[in-house]
Amino acid sequence: MSTTGEAKFSVMCSLFNWIQKSKTSAKKRSKFRKFLDAFCGPGDYFAAVRLILPGLDRERGSYGLRESVLATCLIDALGMSRDSPDAVRLINWRKGGAKDSKQLVAAPPRRLVRGFGSNAFSKVALASLVGGGAVLQSRQGMTSGGLKIKELNDLLDRLASSDNRAEKTSILSDLIKKTNAQEMKWIIMIILKDLKLGMSEKSIFHEFHQDAEDLFNVTCDLKLVCEKLRDRTRRHKRQDIEVGKPVRPQLALRVGNSSAAWKKLHGKEVVVECKFDGDRIQIHKKGKEINFFSRNFLDHPEYGHGMSEIIVQNVLVDRCILDGEMLVWDTTMNRFADFGSNQEIAKAAKEGLDSDRQLCCILTSEFSMTANLAWETIRLDVAFDILYDGDTSVIHQSLKERHELLRKVVKPIKGRLEILVPNGGLNTHCSSGIPRCSLIAYSVDDIERFFKETIENRDEGIVLKDLESTWEPSDRSGKWLKLKPEYVRAGSDLDVLIIGGYYGSGRRGGEVGQFLVGLAERAAPNTYPRRFISFCRVGTGLSDEELDAVVTKLKPYFRKYEHPKKAPPSFYEVTNHSKERPDVWIDSPEKSIILSITSDIRMIRSEVFAAPYSLRFPRIDRVRYDKPWHDCLDVESFVELVRSSNGT
Ligand code: ATP
Repeated sequence: MSTTGEAKFSVMCSLFNWIQKSKTSAKKRSKFRKFLDAFCGPGDYFAAVRLILPGLDRERGSYGLRESVLATCLIDALGMSRDSPDAVRLINWRKGGAKDSKQLVAAPPRRLVRGFGSNAFSKVALASLVGGGAVLQSRQGMTSGGLKIKELNDLLDRLASSDNRAEKTSILSDLIKKTNAQEMKWIIMIILKDLKLGMSEKSIFHEFHQDAEDLFNVTCDLKLVCEKLRDRTRRHKRQDIEVGKPVRPQLALRVGNSSAAWKKLHGKEVVVECKFDGDRIQIHKKGKEINFFSRNFLDHPEYGHGMSEIIVQNVLVDRCILDGEMLVWDTTMNRFADFGSNQEIAKAAKEGLDSDRQLCCILTSEFSMTANLAWETIRLDVAFDILYDGDTSVIHQSLKERHELLRKVVKPIKGRLEILVPNGGLNTHCSSGIPRCSLIAYSVDDIERFFKETIENRDEGIVLKDLESTWEPSDRSGKWLKLKPEYVRAGSDLDVLIIGGYYGSGRRGGEVGQFLVGLAERAAPNTYPRRFISFCRVGTGLSDEELDAVVTKLKPYFRKYEHPKKAPPSFYEVTNHSKERPDVWIDSPEKSIILSITSDIRMIRSEVFAAPYSLRFPRIDRVRYDKPWHDCLDVESFVELVRSSNGT
């Protein structure tokens, strides 16, 4: 048996191709098992496993190569001119590439993988096949470059540790020299941290070792798992959680409505909590050393700014893990800020910028001394659980007991560090001011009432928890249930009017690529609406041709409102939010066009747009040339629709 380090990467590529092509899970698993048996020595499982589960490898850190940067680096690494058709195609990976590079579509494995990896494959394949890239031209089409697994890991280490783009480009160029197009495709997938093999992480762990998944769940350390379990036949004693090592979070199972939730938890003692719309956070305290781990187990020291001190002083034990949600509390508006503000606030805090928003942690008690945190417009950590207390893990205790511990261990600081326990802590206000954030439910009506309250307050939904349940890493079996408005009913089409346009970038630079759409103010009987209220921004869903047709039709009515007269036409009601301001307005609603838009009916309270709700992921379903402008949905009907879809 060779060792993994000596083995060629081409062997892994054949494995990846085979797994991807196999239809059944049993076949995929058996191939992977055979690979481990034949090509991996006990000392170097990690070298192979980290390539097949790149999303779990924390050893290497981030490559700092999101798709667009990677595309540019690859273009440079291939020595292509940035405006050549192939380079343009690569830059436009998201849109499936520029239309004029028809040959690229012919590259065979394009059908096999989705997303950027396939495009890049096409690019590299084309480069090898038709000689588009100077480097690959000199090589023999699909002949393997002979790269070894060890060599690849070394180069990937260098790629992650270098912080300048020129060096990254040179490493990519090195990789291109040592691989063929097929191998390079897989390397790109590894860099993008998703191989899309159609084989679950659970199966991969299981084939490697029976205890691998358990051990990973409590350590989030792939290297440690591979090293500790190098004897694949020997069982490993179950390991408990440790302060300083992130644990994979307990998760919630989605349910459709209150009755389904009640039925599922029938006979159990149930606590219902507000579902905060922040970021999951795990706070580890070891004396003065505080770690903030995100849901994907990355350490975020920047969250500690202004917060670590609070934790040191107000978490009354030396060692502890709190599980919670981090929120941002808006001190001016006196409510939680919109989702997405967290990183912004953390960055501002790190840079020492003043902000009238702060992060807040809401802690919930679930492991042995952990708290769940939520952040409000000032940083607010809301602990809803505790996983570790003193020198013991408490995840095996019931939630009820953990709530008690949470009360003892955390001294809440209003608006900064709150605990979420029944009849205590945060119960005086929820995200947008509801009277309770958590209550014990005795009937389905209690759940329904609480759910409606949260919806009225435009919160994310509710989480139901079995008070007798233990906290289990990565478990989504139904100890926690989540009920969110958008699951109550799938999205229905909304007919809205285009009132403005935003210029696109890249290929659509200088052309309108997205629209600002509006809802009508309800008109008096037998009259047409006179005002339109800005509602959301939408750009996806149409083909290039369809988009071009709409833009061409509306172009004569585009009006820029240049400084100093920035006011929009008087028949539009808009906010002053800069994110809303389109590049052009439609100067007359009668000339405009109705679009049918869909979304998962995830209504978000709208600060950016004038309508009370907006949609989180809207897309254009079709252009309604058949509908006159005045058939636009009005705000009142829309609000009724939201209410009825929420069951309120
Ligand atoms: P979602 O997009 O719905 O948050 P998810 O897959 O990220 O889904 P789930 O397990 O479905 O996570 O939902 C649990 C998440 O909800 C937690 O990770 C946490 O961030 C968030 N959350 C907000 N409030 C609570 C709460 N009171 N108790 C537990 N989790 C909460």
